[in-house]
Amino acid sequence: MTASGRIALRGIPASHGVAVGPVVMLDRRRGPVPRHSVEPHEVASEVQRLRAAIEASRQEIEAVRASIGEAAYSDYGPILEAHLLMHRDDLLVDAACRRIEHGRINAEWALRRTVDELKAPLEQAGSGYFRERAADVEHVGEHIRRHLLGERSVLPPVDAPSILVASDLSPADAARLLRSKIRGLVTATGGATGHTALLARALEIPAVVGVVGVLAAVDAGEPAIVDGFSGEVVFRPDAEEVGRAASRASRHMTFVRGLRARHDSPDVTADGLPFEVWANIELPAEAALVAHDQAPGVGLYRTEFLYLGREEAPDEDEQTRVYTDVVSVLAPRPVVFRTFDLGGDKLPTHAAPCANPALGLRAIRLSLVDPEFFRGQVRAILRAAAAGSAKLMFPLVSTLTELRDARALVDQCADDLEREGVAFSRVPIGLMIEVPSAALMAHALAAEADFFSVGTNDLVQYTLAVDRGDARVAGLARNLDPAVLRLLDMTARAADGASIGLSMCGDMASDPVALPVVLGLGYRRLSVALSARPLVREVARRVSLERARGVAEEALAAGTAEEVRALLISAFASDLGDLWREEGIDA
Ligand code: PEP
Ligand code: MG
Repeated sequence: MTASGRIALRGIPASHGVAVGPVVMLDRRRGPVPRHSVEPHEVASEVQRLRAAIEASRQEIEAVRASIGEAAYSDYGPILEAHLLMHRDDLLVDAACRRIEHGRINAEWALRRTVDELKAPLEQAGSGYFRERAADVEHVGEHIRRHLLGERSVLPPVDAPSILVASDLSPADAARLLRSKIRGLVTATGGATGHTALLARALEIPAVVGVVGVLAAVDAGEPAIVDGFSGEVVFRPDAEEVGRAASRASRHMTFVRGLRARHDSPDVTADGLPFEVWANIELPAEAALVAHDQAPGVGLYRTEFLYLGREEAPDEDEQTRVYTDVVSVLAPRPVVFRTFDLGGDKLPTHAAPCANPALGLRAIRLSLVDPEFFRGQVRAILRAAAAGSAKLMFPLVSTLTELRDARALVDQCADDLEREGVAFSRVPIGLMIEVPSAALMAHALAAEADFFSVGTNDLVQYTLAVDRGDARVAGLARNLDPAVLRLLDMTARAADGASIGLSMCGDMASDPVALPVVLGLGYRRLSVALSARPLVREVARRVSLERARGVAEEALAAGTAEEVRALLISAFASDLGDLWREEGIDA
């Protein structure tokens, strides 16, 4: 039953902006799964039926992928590629076919059980990242189920600018929004890094996800406001509220267009000092977009995303092919390959589960205990480097010994490749500074590394003892805490003293309030998500580095994150206040 008066619900802000319009509903909850056994003579045709549905599903997603424009491809194409890969994945396709053969059950049932089995460990892993990968598996399964049953997915016809309210969208459903008149999006499930959120950001459609109970709260045709800054969704608002939201919506659109129009402006601060904004990528397909955007390079390639939808490590040759593609697409721009950051809140590992994964066998630790596995990746990166410019970076280094051991393995791989006569290039070797011990020992690490890149997501987590994936303590993860700033300062000084490269690739580099202090502490090479580049460049262009240095000095002497924030606001509100306001920051 739907309420009749104004109702405001809250969810997770997933794509900035404000949208106003009547509601269109799409209920995409899991459909029915017929269950029955099959006779031995029916097994072959049942397997055939499943394979045909998988192929039809694959072709449909392929067609959607071919139809999306370049702008949307940036954040969205790679997700569709991952879903296409899942259609070829043995774990899904062969396992479901085997279930029909061995269990003598119908295709829909075999598919459902296989999907549930693949999802279970991802859901149990608990972190947002894994839950979203579980949602990907579910979407692919659901897509194939609809083909098996001959159901068509239908987005209702949308003739006027509207707000779509849905349980969730599969990537193929969502991609159909591209040429529709949907101006705002609300989903009952999903997180800020899920594919629906990525698509909404790519298309610049304001979106709020994870709005519990939304499907029961509204009917099609009723007016709604979506606030993609605050995460508030209002149904049946009054006329005055609608008027305010509409003018806010058009102001934000003008703002985003203005940022884009400054694409060719030089990257120098207000007092004329150069800075660089590189791009972070997760999937190989993003490399072309970085090149198209003319970013100076990839400052963080999260290679562990190669595991998306699979459990087995890709072998050296497969990695060489993928990495070579990335390097050659971007050449002569450099690509910083971060070696696998598996474990912790990241992707599955072959290591036994542990009680405290963030402090367990994660990242470089995992690579070092399995040298064969590590060598495969390092050799692939060195081989790919021959196609252009690459650098190698180790995640979560916490001691000098780890750096030495990892470097020694790289040297050994290079010597082996040379002896074998395989084409490769030696590459600069750096590490992420994302554990407090690494920042404290930065002077010693700097003497044996070619560059540092600071991962503030983990550095904040480990410095303030705040789980980065736990929404209940997210408010304690303050990147402006003086404890974090002091570690950033030590790191920057050590890099400067040893004349090695320094960059920041964690999310603090795209925080428009924190950026002046980041610049003031000496970080003039930033690496951020492609979609964040226009804003980050604009903020940095408006900051006087001299003033930022002064504020950084004061911030280091402050006692709390709130004091640092107040310092930044009073020093930069006149230069950055309009940008902050447009980003919904209350300053
Ligand atoms: C970080 O920790 O800041 C970082 C960039 O790495 P990731 O987010 O992949 O852990
Ligand atoms: Mg990290």
